[in-house]
Amino acid sequence: MTTPLTRKAIPSPNYSSRGGASVRLIVLHTAEGARTIEDLGAFFGRTSSGVSSHTGIDDKQGIIGEYVKRPNKAWTAANANPVAVQTELCAFAAWSAAEWSKHGAMLDNCARWIAEESAQFGIPITKLTPSQAQGSGRGVCQHVDLGTWGGGHHDCGTSFPIDDVISKAKGYASGQGGGDDEMGYPDWYWQWSNWYLTTNRDPATRPKSAPKEIPKWAWEANDKQLQLLNRYGMTSAERDWITWYLGGRQGARPNVPQTIPDRWWDDEKYVLQST
Ligand SMILES: [Zn+2]
Repeated sequence: MTTPLTRKAIPSPNYSSRGGASVRLIVLHTAEGARTIEDLGAFFGRTSSGVSSHTGIDDKQGIIGEYVKRPNKAWTAANANPVAVQTELCAFAAWSAAEWSKHGAMLDNCARWIAEESAQFGIPITKLTPSQAQGSGRGVCQHVDLGTWGGGHHDCGTSFPIDDVISKAKGYASGQGGGDDEMGYPDWYWQWSNWYLTTNRDPATRPKSAPKEIPKWAWEANDKQLQLLNRYGMTSAERDWITWYLGGRQGARPNVPQTIPDRWWDDEKYVLQST
């Protein structure tokens, strides 16, 4: 049983709307300056800094700073910001493995934060490759994985123990909340759920790892996933389609179902009314 992290609110004025984008990335950074969540909060608190992140993490066990609320877009990874929930470790990308190993509380807080964001947004605790992170993958990555699309930074550095942190985060996720343990799902579930929810469900592209008969728990998890997607906005395929449709259907039709689901039409009306 893990208690949730205490989130010390130090609001930053540097944020904006996600513009309807749904969150698919949990992104880790090093702050490259501030050594405490309070100092980092003071920096993000100045309009003149022009940057922010959702949270910050230092060596205080069980306590993190929260600067931007989850529904809003923090400003720290350029084009990735709309689809990311992000944290800044009060650390440096130049740290050696030996230096990182002296910051057990920081790494532990980071793992717990990943587990909490994963549960909140329904994002799997999986390390993404750069192409997955810059494409449409759902999972955990570092700023460096976002490449020039994400601003061309190199944090969290080559010695950051990402695999340890992810495996710890998985441990925290599976220790949370008994029957509500959605992060304990096998990989095939996430592949199948993504295929089911975000593609035209072509049998030829159905993940081979998924069983022929989808068990009842997977259908239930999938329903929950759909509710999360609806709560946090549309999928990227749906957004692409709406943009294309409202833009006069110019250019290639986005790679979306031939038959548009009813709820997309409802969203299309909503977008049209609010513009
Ligand atoms: Zn960064």
